[in-house]
Amino acid sequence: MPVERVAGVHTGKGAGSDDDLEEEVRRGVLVTTLEKAVNWARKQSMWPVTFGLACCAIEMMSAGAGNYDLARWGMELFRASPRQSDLMIVAGRLSQKMAPVLRRVYDQMPEPKWVISMGVCASAGGMFTNYAIVQGVDTIVPVDIYVPGCPPRPEMLMYGILTLHEKVRTEGHLK
Ligand code: SF4
Repeated sequence: MPVERVAGVHTGKGAGSDDDLEEEVRRGVLVTTLEKAVNWARKQSMWPVTFGLACCAIEMMSAGAGNYDLARWGMELFRASPRQSDLMIVAGRLSQKMAPVLRRVYDQMPEPKWVISMGVCASAGGMFTNYAIVQGVDTIVPVDIYVPGCPPRPEMLMYGILTLHEKVRTEGHLK
C-alpha cells in the first residue's frame, strides 16, 4: 500500500530541506527522540519514597513543605509505598539493624529507580564511627547523588535533586 505524505509532517531523512524543517518547527511541530522524551518525563515526575531515618529527615520534610516546595518539579508526593516510587532519599544515619529494611524497600521499588544519600551520616557514617552505624549507605544500595552536610539545608537537597534530574535527562540509554 502506498504511503501518503501528510502535509506539514516531517517524515525524516530526505523529506525536505532545512527550510522545510524550520517552517514545521515554527508551526509548532517538535521533533525529538523517544529516549529524550522518556528521560524528560521521568525527571519531571519523580516520586520519592518516604524514608526518613534521623535529623536529616527534618530538612527533607522542610524541602517538601511550602517554603521550598518540591512540587515545582512534580515531586510533591512522598509515597508511602515503595511500589509507587522511583527515588529513595536516605535522610540520616543508617543503623545496622535498619539496613536490611532499607534494602528491602529499595528492592520493592520498580525500575528505573535512583538513590540520593543525604547528609554525611548516610554517606560515610559521619560522627558515628562505631559498629552500630553503616559507614556509607552505598554498601547497601547503589547511590546516584551524595548531598554533603550535617544536616544539609533544603537548598542543598534541592541542588542534589536538580543534579539528579540532569543526570536522568542526559542518560544515553533507556533503562
Ligand atoms: S548528618 Fe547530621 S543531621 Fe544528618 S543524620 Fe547525621 S547527625 Fe543528623
